[in-house]
Amino acid sequence: ELPTVAFLGLGHMGGPMAANLVRAGYTVNGYDPVPAAQEEATKNGITVAEAATDAVRGAQVVITMLPNGKLVLDLYDEILPAAEPNTLFVDSSTIDVADARAAAEKARTAGHRAVDAPVSGGVAGAAAGTLAFMVGGSEDDFATAKPLLEAMGRKIVHCGGSGNGQAAKICNNMILGISMIAISEAFVLGEKLGLDNQALFDVASNASGQCWALTSNCPVPGPVPTTPANNDYQPGFAAALMDKDLGLAANAVRANGVEAELGLRAAELYHRFNTEGGGGLDFSAIITDIRDRSTA
Ligand code: NAD
Repeated sequence: ELPTVAFLGLGHMGGPMAANLVRAGYTVNGYDPVPAAQEEATKNGITVAEAATDAVRGAQVVITMLPNGKLVLDLYDEILPAAEPNTLFVDSSTIDVADARAAAEKARTAGHRAVDAPVSGGVAGAAAGTLAFMVGGSEDDFATAKPLLEAMGRKIVHCGGSGNGQAAKICNNMILGISMIAISEAFVLGEKLGLDNQALFDVASNASGQCWALTSNCPVPGPVPTTPANNDYQPGFAAALMDKDLGLAANAVRANGVEAELGLRAAELYHRFNTEGGGGLDFSAIITDIRDRSTA
């Protein structure tokens, strides 16, 4: 018998994720304060409740997909007392590692189980059921969560105890943010030196400069025809989300006294690009900012 799921936060990501659980045969009760999200969820077979506490009653698993850690912690305060004892709480939001650990601790203190399970793969991955989940929690809780995550994703990795899913996500995205800036700076330097973008690509993609930012999300149009650079930088992975994730990485860098100058600088550059209007573009559009700021 499949567990009954409460899904809280039916936005761009949560909506299609909950729909995939329905498709996999789960009974899904949901809640989101936004009427448009409620309507879409109802169409997808989710029973939308009047309040989060109502959605949680009778569920064995509660999944949250919310914008930030404060909302997760506040919602946990509201719903933990309403849940059946020993309910598994799965938070798939991208939030601070410290908030994720605090949320799991709250759940356990209230007599429940908890994992953090942030995702990568974006809205397209959520709709297609091909998300990657990075999971933090005990072996037992991971084992309980895994079949549900498999209904929404393709790659499920157990990263260790509570908060380690979030830790893996921000460490990966710190690599990605830094490497996209590195690739972009190199292309702009090459342009200034009279080097053809395709020539630099042909060299670097077969040499030690090779990385995902170059060969899968190349920031200049041409060398990789499928990348956002060939489509006016329509995302893809939006720069606003990179700004958010690098901000979380920067918080963790500072909180843990890590010497990560490039990670902190990447966070600053993406924050500036986002606040100056680039947030809706793919994060590879940072190259246009680097080019614009370069003197003639
Ligand atoms: P979103 O804003 O579209 O959805 C969040 C939803 O949560 C909204 O519909 C909002 O009304 C709802 N909500 C707010 N407070 C609530 C509450 N108390 N109870 C129930 N629902 C509540 O955001 P999204 O793009 O779906 O992102 C969700 C999370 O996933 C974020 O943490 C984000 O960083 C992460 N994420 C997003 C993407 C992406 O491509 N969009 C990719 C990976 C991870």
